[in-house]
Amino acid sequence: MGATQVNVNEAFLPRHLTDHDRCDRCGSRAYVQVRLATGQLLFCAHHYQEFEARLQPIVTAVFDERDRLHADSSRGSAYSSASP
Ligand SMILES: [Zn+2]
Repeated sequence: MGATQVNVNEAFLPRHLTDHDRCDRCGSRAYVQVRLATGQLLFCAHHYQEFEARLQPIVTAVFDERDRLHADSSRGSAYSSASP
């Protein structure tokens, strides 16, 4: 019962970003989704930081996954520090 019921709230939540989601500015892995009245933008951590102040007055929602960036990079540095 209710197995096929659609969670209405889910329609308002952005999906999780994947490796296929790219920054609209530079094409790097996107970590922040910004929703505007006119649509949606994706930013890498670097470009979100750069545009954050300018976006602030016009955004309707921000979905920030930059905490995952740290998880990814700590995993990456573990590998790089292990190399000779
Ligand atoms: Zn970027």
